[in-house]
Amino acid sequence: MPEIISPPALHELWQSALPQLAESVGHAACDSFLRSAQVIAYDGETLLLGVANEFARDWLADRHLPAISACLSELVKKPVQVQMQVVERSEPPPAPQSSLMQVPEPSLATFGSTPLNRKYVFDNFVVADCNRFAHAAAQQVSKSPGKSYNPLFIHSKVGLGKTHLLQAIGHKVVEQNPGAQVAYISAESFVNQVIAAIRDNRTAEFRRKYRNVDVWLVDDIQFIAAIEGPASEEEFFHTFNTLYETNKQVVIASDAPPRHLQIMNDRLRSRLEMGIVADLRCPDVETRIAILDKKAQAEGLSLPREILAYVAEKIESNIRVLEGALLKICAHVSLADEELTLPVVEEIIADYSAASAPQRRLSLQYIAEYIADQKNCSLEDMLGPKRNQEIVWPRQIAIYLAREKTDSSLAKIGEFFGGRDHSTVLHAYNKVSELLETDEVVLWEINEYKRAMETQ
Ligand code: ADP
Ligand code: MG
Repeated sequence: MPEIISPPALHELWQSALPQLAESVGHAACDSFLRSAQVIAYDGETLLLGVANEFARDWLADRHLPAISACLSELVKKPVQVQMQVVERSEPPPAPQSSLMQVPEPSLATFGSTPLNRKYVFDNFVVADCNRFAHAAAQQVSKSPGKSYNPLFIHSKVGLGKTHLLQAIGHKVVEQNPGAQVAYISAESFVNQVIAAIRDNRTAEFRRKYRNVDVWLVDDIQFIAAIEGPASEEEFFHTFNTLYETNKQVVIASDAPPRHLQIMNDRLRSRLEMGIVADLRCPDVETRIAILDKKAQAEGLSLPREILAYVAEKIESNIRVLEGALLKICAHVSLADEELTLPVVEEIIADYSAASAPQRRLSLQYIAEYIADQKNCSLEDMLGPKRNQEIVWPRQIAIYLAREKTDSSLAKIGEFFGGRDHSTVLHAYNKVSELLETDEVVLWEINEYKRAMETQ
C-alpha cells in the first residue's frame, strides 16, 4: 500500500539527509545543487527530487545519484529510488529589476496554456540592431494589445530570443492589466489539445475556451503543419480568426517567415503576412558580450570583460548555447577554489572549439575499454548481449566514438561490439549524433572523452 507522506515531513527528511549528503557528494556540490533541492513526492519506493535547473539535474544524475539514493535509503531504512525533475522556483527571483513581482499567475494558468517563465521579461532582454525592430513591435503590442500590430509575427533561427519576446509581452500585459487573459501555448501543445478534443468529442468546448483570451501567444507555429496536417491547421485558423476578428491580440513565433511556412491554407498565410513581420538576427560580438554580462550579473557573478569577450567570440550563432557556456563557468566558480583566469575559461569551454582539435585514429579495443572504465561497467558487458539501460547507453557512446575515431566499417564495429549488425551500429551512431545537437551535457561529455582519449 502506498504511504502518504506530508510535505513538511518530506522537507524534514531532505533536511536531515543534507549533512550526510555533503559528506558523500562533497560540500561544494551539496551547496550548489542539493541545498536548494526539494522533495516533491515519495511513494515509499520512488522519491521525486525537484532541482533548480537542467545543469543541476544532469550533474547530479551523472555523478551522484547512487550516493543520494544510498543516503536516503539509510534514513528511511529501505531502498529508495531517486528521480529528478527540474522545477521553477516558486518565490520571486532576487533580481530587483524583475517586473514580475506583481504578476498574478492564476489568470495565466487558464486555457490550458503554459505558465510563463519568470526570466523572460523585457528588462532581461538586451536590445541591439539585430533585434531592435522586433523588440519595439513587441513593446508596442504589449502597451496596446489588439490595437496596433495584429498579428505580430516574429521569426528567427533557434536560440535568438523568440520565446523570450513572446513571454515578455505576456508578462507586460498582465502587469499593466491584472485582469487580462493571456494564453501562451506552443503550437505543439495546441495540436495535442486539438487531437484530444477531437478524440473526446469536445471540439465545441475547445473552441469556446479561447474565445475570451485577450492576448494569444503561439510559439513555434511551424509545428502546426509539420505534425498533424489539415485538422490542426484548420482549428488553428478558426481560433486565429475568432480572436483576430474581435480585435484580440495574436502574436506568433516561427522558425521561418510566413511565406516559407508549410501551411496549406492560403487565407491563413495571407492573414499572417498582413500583420507585422519582424525577424531576429544573430547578435554581433558586442551584443553577445552585453548579453553575457547581463546573464552573469543575474547569476550574481561579475566577470572581467576579457573573459566575456573570449566566450562571446567563441560562440557566435546561438544565445542559448552562449548561456550554456556561461552556466558552466558559473558552476565551475561555485565548485572549484581555483581563480577564474582566461586559461581556465578556455579549458571550461573548450568543447565549443573542439572541432578544430587535431585528429588521431584510435583502436576499437581502446575505445571500448576507455568508455567501460569511465562509465563503470565491465568490458565484458559492453561487448556482451545485455540490453538494459545501464549498459546500452555506454555502448552507444562507444559505438559512436568508434565510428568517429577509427577507420573501421559499420560491419566491423558491429562485429567487435558483440556481433551486432550494421543497422544497430547506425542506430547507436544516429542516436548520439542527435543528442549532440540538442543536449549540452551530452555534447560536453562526448567532447571530454574525445579529448581525453586523444591526449592519452
Ligand atoms: P528561441 O525561442 O528563438 O529559440 P529563446 O527565446 O528561447 O530563443 O532564447 C534563448 C535564450 O537566449 C533564452 O534564455 C533567452 O533569454 C536568451 N536571449 C535571447 N535573446 C536575448 C537578448 N536579446 N537578451 C538577453 N537574452 C536573450
Ligand atoms: Mg523558442
